[in-house]
Amino acid sequence: MKLWLIGAYGIVSTTAMAGAKAIEKGLADKTGLVTALPFFKPLEEIVPFEFDFGGHEIRLLSNAFVALKEHWEKNRHVDLELIEAVKEELSSIVAKKGTALNCGSGIEGLGKLETLEKEGLSLKEIVARISKDMKEFANDETVVVNVASTEPIPKINERYHYTIEGFEEMIEEDKKDFATASMLYAYSAIKLRLPYANFTPSIGSSIPALKKLAEEKNVPHAGNDGKTGETLVKTTLAPMFAYRNLVVEGWMSYNILGDYDGKVLSAKENKESKIVSKDKVLEKALGYAPYSITEIDFFPSLVDNKTAFDFVHFKGFLGKLMKFYFIWDAIDAIVASPLVLDLARLLLFAKKNEIGGVVKELAFFFKNPMDCDVVNTHEQFEILKKWFNQLARA
Ligand code: NAD
Repeated sequence: MKLWLIGAYGIVSTTAMAGAKAIEKGLADKTGLVTALPFFKPLEEIVPFEFDFGGHEIRLLSNAFVALKEHWEKNRHVDLELIEAVKEELSSIVAKKGTALNCGSGIEGLGKLETLEKEGLSLKEIVARISKDMKEFANDETVVVNVASTEPIPKINERYHYTIEGFEEMIEEDKKDFATASMLYAYSAIKLRLPYANFTPSIGSSIPALKKLAEEKNVPHAGNDGKTGETLVKTTLAPMFAYRNLVVEGWMSYNILGDYDGKVLSAKENKESKIVSKDKVLEKALGYAPYSITEIDFFPSLVDNKTAFDFVHFKGFLGKLMKFYFIWDAIDAIVASPLVLDLARLLLFAKKNEIGGVVKELAFFFKNPMDCDVVNTHEQFEILKKWFNQLARA
């Protein structure tokens, strides 16, 4: 299959590329890939584990290998031998220039940026360019995944974001104030009938106009924001309190991370999208909203090693208050990148089964699943398996 990554030179993208190529060459095993579990074995026949990569970027380095090496210099997140072993494959992946329209001040810290809007293009011309890039790369077995830096939350506009006609009028009339990059990428992908996943908290395909477009074109899409770390643990553990009739009085989550993602998230407006996405889950998992604090701060020396400290204050039998603490200490790209490959394969599987619109059954992969209130990881996993089983047997 082919995978088009928005934010192709990021650490999640380049680690996914390196991992896929290393697995294909027999240099790494499939630990961390959900679709490699025995349950999903039938997928091997339908969507074999073989990837061709392309993508859009705004940091125009010479190729994906250079980007991966740059991440490695800072993070040492994979073995150097593995990187060298996929050098040839990654050196041939060259991203196309993308758009960073209304992506906020956070991305300015990423270094020298080149975007289509800096060429003075109108919205219509930007969409035409990104669509042309995707079209030239794509075949019938192509999926687009957004793994670009997190955008600020845009104001939803009734005229331009609610209907397909309104969205296209916005493009036609060059109303740049109302468009964000993630919407334009999602629109282009769906219009070309390419399944689309939003691994970020950005708005992407979740505005009503794009949901309608995906239904009209019968294109599967899913999002938002990969559930990889602290939220994964939170939505796995919170149900435990509910099952045992323990009342959570308060839950404090404090996340620190460095690297580009941490830098972008340290900008207030970009951070807001992530906090909203992380914050909603407790109420949904427990059925009530305990006192909650969710914080994310930039901590340069950690680079891509994200640490999350959580403190839970809970009430048990006879009104007694008790405490639970955990620390999640993971390498963000290592937990995230296999899920990008999983999502790509499962969305292509959905397309092959002629499924269109939001694929709610993929909620398992997201912090803030679109059109789905189930955040309990255990339930989400059962829903995913049931969906897969039914389609694979059909
Ligand atoms: P990163 O900063 O390493 O990579 C982002 C890449 O996107 C950069 O190369 C940047 O130049 C590029 N980019 C930014 N805006 C762009 C645009 N408008 N068009 C094209 N390219 C653009 O970040 P990362 O750690 O790889 O994370 C990527 C995204 O995934 C972030 O939004 C992050 O919040 C999200 N995410 C990550 C995890 C995780 O565990 N790592 C979990 C959930 C979500």
